[in-house]
Amino acid sequence: MTELTAPKSPLTANEFADEIRQALKYTQGVTPEQAKTADVYVATATVVRRHLMDSWMKTQQDMINGDTKAVGYLSAEFLMGKQLRNALLNAGLTPQFEEAVRGLGFDPQAVVDAEYEPGLGNGGLGRLAACFIDSLASLGVPAFGYGIQYKYGIFRQEFDDEGRQIERPDYWLSNEDPWGHIDYERDQRVNFGGKVVEENGKRVWKPSWAVRAIPVDYMVPGYASGRVNTLRLWQARSYDEFDLLTFNKSEYLDAVKPQVKAEDISKVLYPEDSTEVGKELRLEQQYFFASASIHDAIRVFYPDTDKPDLTTFADKITFQLNDTHPVIGIPELMRIMIDEYGYDWDTAWEVTHKTFNYTCHTLLPEALEVWPASLIGKLLPRHLEIIERINKQFVSELEAKGASEDQIKRMLILTDDEHPVVRMAYLATYAGSNVNGVAELHSQLLKDVTLRDFSDVYPAKFKNVTNGVTPRRFIKLANPRLSELITEGLGTDKWLEDLDLLEGLAPLAQDDEFVKKFAAVKHENKVAFADFSKQRYGAELDANTMFDTMIKRLHEYKRQALKILEIIATYSDIKSGKVNVQDITPRTYIFGAKAAPGYYLAKMTIQLINNVAKVIDNDPDVNGKIKIFFPWNYNIEVAQMLIPATELDEQISQAGKEASGTSNMKFALNGALTVGTLDGANVEIRERVGADNFFLFGMTVDEVEKMYEQGYDPSKYYEADPRLKAAIDMVADGTFSNGDRNTYAPLVSDWLTKDWFMTLADFSAYHDIQADIDALYADQLEWNRKAILNVANSGYFSSDRSIKDYLDRIWHTRSLDK
Ligand SMILES: *Cc1c(COP(=O)(O)O)cnc(C)c1O
Repeated sequence: MTELTAPKSPLTANEFADEIRQALKYTQGVTPEQAKTADVYVATATVVRRHLMDSWMKTQQDMINGDTKAVGYLSAEFLMGKQLRNALLNAGLTPQFEEAVRGLGFDPQAVVDAEYEPGLGNGGLGRLAACFIDSLASLGVPAFGYGIQYKYGIFRQEFDDEGRQIERPDYWLSNEDPWGHIDYERDQRVNFGGKVVEENGKRVWKPSWAVRAIPVDYMVPGYASGRVNTLRLWQARSYDEFDLLTFNKSEYLDAVKPQVKAEDISKVLYPEDSTEVGKELRLEQQYFFASASIHDAIRVFYPDTDKPDLTTFADKITFQLNDTHPVIGIPELMRIMIDEYGYDWDTAWEVTHKTFNYTCHTLLPEALEVWPASLIGKLLPRHLEIIERINKQFVSELEAKGASEDQIKRMLILTDDEHPVVRMAYLATYAGSNVNGVAELHSQLLKDVTLRDFSDVYPAKFKNVTNGVTPRRFIKLANPRLSELITEGLGTDKWLEDLDLLEGLAPLAQDDEFVKKFAAVKHENKVAFADFSKQRYGAELDANTMFDTMIKRLHEYKRQALKILEIIATYSDIKSGKVNVQDITPRTYIFGAKAAPGYYLAKMTIQLINNVAKVIDNDPDVNGKIKIFFPWNYNIEVAQMLIPATELDEQISQAGKEASGTSNMKFALNGALTVGTLDGANVEIRERVGADNFFLFGMTVDEVEKMYEQGYDPSKYYEADPRLKAAIDMVADGTFSNGDRNTYAPLVSDWLTKDWFMTLADFSAYHDIQADIDALYADQLEWNRKAILNVANSGYFSSDRSIKDYLDRIWHTRSLDK
């Protein structure tokens, strides 16, 4: 007997349908007969939101009235994905929704699809924030996500006829956003510019312009917790007074300029991933949301008073800084306490120190975010003074601890050279209570390399919290067929709240009947993805081939180039007759990736993949054997379709470069086998699922380091492996550019002379392991046994576990209900 614990609302389908009719009438002004699918979506969202309202209000009340410290997750990105199915699941309304909407004459899936996916993040970092706030709510921990409601999210990607990436603006707010509630009454003023003057012995900031931060609240319903938290995203608006004070006909431009500038702040998400952009507007964005969020927390936790006792602030809320983007919040809290509330430095420091913790996502010391002190001085002059004083205090502390002059110089928060910069990661590491990496290997590298001096002086600050993903979105919603099979296999659906229960599937890997059911689920998911690809992209995929997938931002360190070179080598082997086409294991190679608009080599790699795809499609010699499919505009929706359909997952970054990765976790939990390097969380995945159930290849971190020291010469590898040589020659000779040898010349030249991420050095090992992959794939029963063991042993990678680690190691708080 299967024990079901999924939340169920007592609402009947008929009542649900009635409420949708009401919402259609009173918010959309249409009858069900006049309604379009999108109207039904908006009406349904309105109804679901209403049903969450009591839980949301009670969660707020319990948080403010109780003594459970809340979590403020400060993140410049929240890559949420579509909300409707998630909200229905967590509210226990899915069956009623399906029946009600059908009764109204609409297709439930079409209603769900009518939602426009908000793209308020680039990739892993933003998705992590989304998984974390889902888990916080599901665990009943009071929390706020704090970020920016960008008007334009990550660009919409298209490909032109030459296979090049085209970026289209993503004006997502030109669609209905029924989930966001704008709260004009709870706005915050965020000041910029001006100067600091001395008044009555005090430093007083006289800003020259200000922006109005208006919160847009999104409910974050927990699964089976009865709790609903808040994602508060700030929108920047100008103050009307600017227009009124300065507006007259001749000064029209002066009047609109501040308005345009103010609204620019929340206009666009920077489409960068893994590289920092030192733009003034970016710093304005960072301060904008950090300042508004801290003021908001003070408003929330000290209602009904102008004189809050901020010495208790760190007992009310703990702020987690998701990378360095919100680190300017540290001097901001100091400034608020000292300038706005009159506390002395030491009191402000103690509270600030206790309140903040920092998650570092970076590996290379030179990739850590810095801001010119001159820019901070111009935009935030008072903050620069505070940072100077923090730096001074820091240097004294280091001297007292006996640090050498050299070490102190290396560690300066504010550098002392000709063009001083503020190192945001150093500021966060010194000022905050804890700093954590995002996987075991990464946290170790933080201590040994990235923040080594800091770990010498402050070893106790350094923690690890391995990333995770929410099983609600990435198993239950993405993979309903597997979810049903898991529930059947375990006899309970409790695994959605306690993912360690998946271990119970391990014995079933030896049960041939179960393995066949598992294989059938995978096949159905492949067929479903092929249908989706046909409809959405006009692609013809064969669900009887191996689905071999690489989805993630396009970046040199992630090494999509390694994958495409290996495909080309296979193609070349067939063309040259070295390999009999009959001996090939048919594969469909699937890519999904956006490249930053200014990232030349990454964009060229996209172009190459698209053109290899074209050449292969037009070549009858390999038809039905190898195929490349590159759906444009990879996003959460595509991820949810593709991950459950994937059999082989590519996690082939250069060892030491991927901090954690989270798509690796999503794949393992959906029963794909991984081919990967010893990098990021791959290491922990392999430990857990077992070395026999993971295709490991490539250099280790130590080997990579040694190679850099020795001096790396990629051309040696090109000469040594004829398969690699043939592949690169094919790119160089115009095979994939209608004979034009110039098209990919910069890419080829980079491979042969630089190849910073050692794609060529890892090529042979990567090519060799393909035979092992094919051999196992030939035995479908064995393959699927291993796939089941991947699912069974990946429960650790639930973001619920990550959040519990944060609660124990860093936040020291708990569920409202414990
Ligand atoms: C999980 C996810 C990512 C992160 O992928 P990595 O391979 O870990 O870099 C990026 N984008 C989307 C849409 C995701 O769902």
